[in-house]
Amino acid sequence: SVPLSFFGGIGGASKQGILVKGGNYLEVLSNAEIVVFDKTGTLTKGVFNVTAIHPDQCSESRLLELAALAESYSDHPISRSLRDAYNAPLDAGRVADVEELSGRGVRARVDGQLICAGNDKLMEEIGVKWHPCHKVGTTVHVAAEGEYLGHIVISDEVKSDAARAIADLKTQGVRKTVMLTGDARAVGEAVAGELGLDEVHTQLLPADKVDRVEALLTQKTGKGALAFVGDGINDAPVLSRADIGIAMGGLGSDAAIEAADIVLMDDQPSKIAAAIGIARKTLRIVK
Ligand code: ADP
Ligand code: MG
Repeated sequence: SVPLSFFGGIGGASKQGILVKGGNYLEVLSNAEIVVFDKTGTLTKGVFNVTAIHPDQCSESRLLELAALAESYSDHPISRSLRDAYNAPLDAGRVADVEELSGRGVRARVDGQLICAGNDKLMEEIGVKWHPCHKVGTTVHVAAEGEYLGHIVISDEVKSDAARAIADLKTQGVRKTVMLTGDARAVGEAVAGELGLDEVHTQLLPADKVDRVEALLTQKTGKGALAFVGDGINDAPVLSRADIGIAMGGLGSDAAIEAADIVLMDDQPSKIAAAIGIARKTLRIVK
């Protein structure tokens, strides 16, 4: 049975936009020792601005149009950002056979042509030689029928409370903070450095993130627990593998909210430390 004051803890949390799905999660959370974050949409806003367009064989607007069309059916923050950047109506009737390739990009037929839009990994996979990008940023390469068309460089910003979120966890005695991302090394390391995370792993596919979390689970000591925080785009497996899964409720996908034990309604990572504080206070009352 759940001690009565757990309900007080859950109620107090919900007033701060922290939805806790059960009293047992408060107990686990009070012992958080390792906190692992996804990057895009979790520590960063998930709203990318286009910082450069480098076409190889077509105009800048044509490159952006093809990328935006290929991305027209996806909910990924990169897809939404490319559609916004194109800033003109997109006729989804020109797009068919869409396939999302998690951690890499998308593949679709646009006006009958096979278009691939995504990162270095995707180009490698389809055997297209890409031009390296000299700017720090997330690179979206575009290929048509196996022919390289150029790339678009996009960049995201860290959330305003992300640095405080990490600092507060340290103050609370959380031993290790880690960021996992499918993004490029330079991007991931810049964000992790700016926010003061202890560890960062980049260029990960969703399955690699699960492997990393399993390795981190073996580093726990005593009663220590591992929390994973994500926006849920491809995160559901890691959210359920962690001792405690925390999802962003605003930007987050339905699958993430389903798989998570705790949902942050306003997407603010600083609410994690707040939740740990509530959990510890509740446990003191129970004990
Ligand atoms: P994160 O690990 O930061 O949450 P994802 O796992 O969603 O990011 O994506 C990892 C990388 O895969 C992105 O940085 C990007 O290079 C590429 N990618 C994923 N989805 C798309 C997409 N829809 N269009 C283009 N590139 C994508
Ligand atoms: Mg993600």
